[in-house]
Amino acid sequence: MYEWSAEVIAVGNEILTGRTVNTNSAFIAARLTSLGFQVRRVTVVGDEVEEIRECFLEALGRNPKLIISSGGLGPTYDDRTVEGLAAALGRKLVYNQEALNEVTRKYKEKGLELTEERLKMALFPEGATPIPNEAGIAPGVYVEVNNTEILLAPGVPKEMEEVTETFLRSYLKRRPNVFYYEEGLTVRGVMESALAPHIKRVVREYGLYIKTHPKGHEINDPYLEVQIAGSSYDKDEITRKVKNVREIISRIAMSLGGKLT
Ligand code: ATP
Ligand code: MG
Repeated sequence: MYEWSAEVIAVGNEILTGRTVNTNSAFIAARLTSLGFQVRRVTVVGDEVEEIRECFLEALGRNPKLIISSGGLGPTYDDRTVEGLAAALGRKLVYNQEALNEVTRKYKEKGLELTEERLKMALFPEGATPIPNEAGIAPGVYVEVNNTEILLAPGVPKEMEEVTETFLRSYLKRRPNVFYYEEGLTVRGVMESALAPHIKRVVREYGLYIKTHPKGHEINDPYLEVQIAGSSYDKDEITRKVKNVREIISRIAMSLGGKLT
């Protein structure tokens, strides 16, 4: 359908050594595929600046539309992704004011001091912009170079998902000929954990983005908001597909004893 190529990078020694299974890259690759991207490479690289630099340079050399990496944005000395990308782009690292405000606000809210390590999460390659991270502290890093858009997402899976989704929403909005469609559904009386395997199956079958947001209490008073979203060049096709999947999930929820509200 569309000829959009993308690459996925995972940064971290723990993935190279097999200590962590690279579920982030699987998530990103599946998500991009569901949007019609052709994922051409999935690469894993260690925590060294030089290695990261080389990895981004190689990816950029293939001119993909999009590169999304995960990992290595945190406050510790071994989180070097931003440095590696800056080196690949030949750009300086500078404090990004918006990121600085966000990081400062989050630590202050918790009554914590702003140390150099913490402020490091606001150091961006010159010209990059932050993508908000509601699930954690380190914001995502977004930069565009020669028609390739690059997103650096954090490594913690929940944060990676949050930042990637926020980014993709704005990415799709910037493309007026791609139609993004989303519907919601509210279910009372079904635990998120009970619905999860069914959602997984439906995601696999239909390739849409489906996410449950728990609002109540998992065991005592389960209450879920289900988000179903997808995009396509064909407005009718995607609208039909999302509505159909909403129907399917409604039926599953009711068969599990849930009430739609
Ligand atoms: P932090 O602020 O927590 O340091 P970070 O952005 O620096 O976040 P990493 O330090 O690279 O990210 O990874 C944090 C944790 O996230 C890892 O210990 C690991 O459990 C998980 N993680 C990292 N990369 C992946 C991946 N590719 N797939 C699955 N889990 C991952
Ligand atoms: Mg880290």
